[in-house]
Amino acid sequence: MKIDQESHENLQSVNQSRWNEAELLRDSRILEHTHSFIVEYNFKTKQCYIDPAQRRHVYGDWQNEKNNYDRNYKRVVLKDDIAPLQAFFDFSDLKAGDSRSIDARFYVKAHAYEWYRVSLVCYADANGEKERVLITFTNAEQELETVQKLKFLLAKDPLTHMPNLDSFVQMTEKMLQSHPEQSYAFIRMDIDKFRIINQMYGTKEGDNILRYIGVKIQEWAGPILETSTYCRISSDMFCVCMPAEADSIQEIIDFIQTSLHAYPIKFDMIMSFGVYITCEEDRDAQTSVSTLMDRAASAQRTVKNSYMNHIAYYDSVIRKKEIAEQIIISEMKKALETNQFQVYLQPKCEMDTGKIIGSEALVRWIHPSQGIISPGEFIPVFEKNGFISELDYFVLRTTCQMIRRWLDEGKKVYPISVNVSRTDLYNPNLLEQIKECVAEFEVPHELIAFELTESAFVSDNMQLYNLAKLLQENHFNVMMDDFGSGYSSLNSLREIPVDVLKIDLKFLPPSSDDRRGNVILHSVVEMANRLGLEVIVEGVETIEQAEFLLSIGCRNAQGFYFYRPMPVSEYERCLEEEPKEISVRRQEEQSK
Ligand code: C2E
Ligand code: CA
Ligand code: CA
Repeated sequence: MKIDQESHENLQSVNQSRWNEAELLRDSRILEHTHSFIVEYNFKTKQCYIDPAQRRHVYGDWQNEKNNYDRNYKRVVLKDDIAPLQAFFDFSDLKAGDSRSIDARFYVKAHAYEWYRVSLVCYADANGEKERVLITFTNAEQELETVQKLKFLLAKDPLTHMPNLDSFVQMTEKMLQSHPEQSYAFIRMDIDKFRIINQMYGTKEGDNILRYIGVKIQEWAGPILETSTYCRISSDMFCVCMPAEADSIQEIIDFIQTSLHAYPIKFDMIMSFGVYITCEEDRDAQTSVSTLMDRAASAQRTVKNSYMNHIAYYDSVIRKKEIAEQIIISEMKKALETNQFQVYLQPKCEMDTGKIIGSEALVRWIHPSQGIISPGEFIPVFEKNGFISELDYFVLRTTCQMIRRWLDEGKKVYPISVNVSRTDLYNPNLLEQIKECVAEFEVPHELIAFELTESAFVSDNMQLYNLAKLLQENHFNVMMDDFGSGYSSLNSLREIPVDVLKIDLKFLPPSSDDRRGNVILHSVVEMANRLGLEVIVEGVETIEQAEFLLSIGCRNAQGFYFYRPMPVSEYERCLEEEPKEISVRRQEEQSK
């Protein structure tokens, strides 16, 4: 074939100019299968090549509409994405070798917008100067839709479809930042005894109740959605954050309470609310949302399961208590190592003869600067953080040591009971630890008794009964502490594997004008006697109480009227004293 010179050169230049395009076309054919199209811009020739595949993807014919970029942007890019995309296509400081990408929504033929991932690479010429930029548009609809959906799902609580804790924290942080002058109220709420509702009505109904509360919170927050946030924290705990105006705080609380009362089950559902109101200090210190929520939780704890109050505001009293708790936690370990904890004994006695028959070991914290701290202050803190196990073990060990010393000194030894915290029940090694400790000091098992307390929860009580049974099998005495405190039922009397019932007068107070209280106390004592259970009454503070108890068949007591908890040396002295019969005490009372 003969080709003349001119046409040959022509052909060569056409070939040359087509070369890039051909290569690109070949690429674009591959890209056809990958849902992409490309655009190339040459900085030197100012030419722009647009892949014909563009027309199949995005609205318009870019090749023929090149001259009106602004209009094109508005026609083919979703409004929100125009500005970021314009910034992306600003090549003023683009250098050879640069690459970047952005996601944006483009108008597609199906009269909808779809996500495209736009990626560019800037190439250099032979001299290393920027020559051209290659831009790939890849349809990312499926991928990004999944990501968006996931994002949506991850932000929601699956049960109530309310925002979950993470997204609440994020949204609330943003809200607080964008309104730095505003004071906000954090309201934390949950249902009292929700576990019991679940046990009585099943978890399905429990879930329905939670959904119902979710709907009610959303219903209430609907009109103020712009200025408030809310979420389900977990289980039956919810939180709302809203501008702190006293009226609207009371309004939402009333609304939720009333809605809950209207729920059709025969259980008086009550919610506890804890409120924290942010102050200038929080704004200056940028206190974290989780700390603010914690404060609402601390306030709420003060009214949880209370019959009288259901709403508590975080105040200086709670703040002081929290600081005190912090001190307790930071000092507890050192206090145990430096013998700041001491075991006191409170004698138990036969009321008519006044004879001591045993004692209860009660721990005291002798603090170097604060003096004696009562267990009511630190035991609940230790129960929360688990330190109670160590402390209970210390009390048991000290008690065993003490008994060993008395035995070695040839003294008469009366049994001592130690308290087992409810949180100890979940320690699988508890029995072994007890047995080892008692064995180390060779203490006869009948000289150690364990005081256990029932709880509101059936599953906890199963643990308790198992432990009680094992202790009995090992010939330890088991006492049911605080019997009558509300959790135990007369019915369970038959099944509880215990030797002694400790009835606290705090829970079953006798009085001359409270006939019913007396009848209940009388019946419990009678039933226990018939079942062969020993009874000991705690909290006896007057001779009248002692005489009444004797009259209904109670013989043993532990109470301030007879003895207060005392240091061991004092207890030893008491043992040496002559016991005082009740008739002598009566005479003494009368001659006062
Ligand atoms: P608890 O086991 O019910 O102990 C009896 C509490 O009642 C003691 O308070 C005792 O001082 C008090 N008490 C005794 N007689 C009377 C009375 O006539 N009137 C009044 N008003 N109170 C009386 P304490 O020592 O302050 O202990 C409080 C609680 O702390 C105990 O209640 C027990 O639950 C817990 N606790 C004390 N020591 C320990 C311990 O070593 N381990 C564990 N786990 N808990 C302990
Ligand atoms: Ca006790
Ligand atoms: Ca008790």
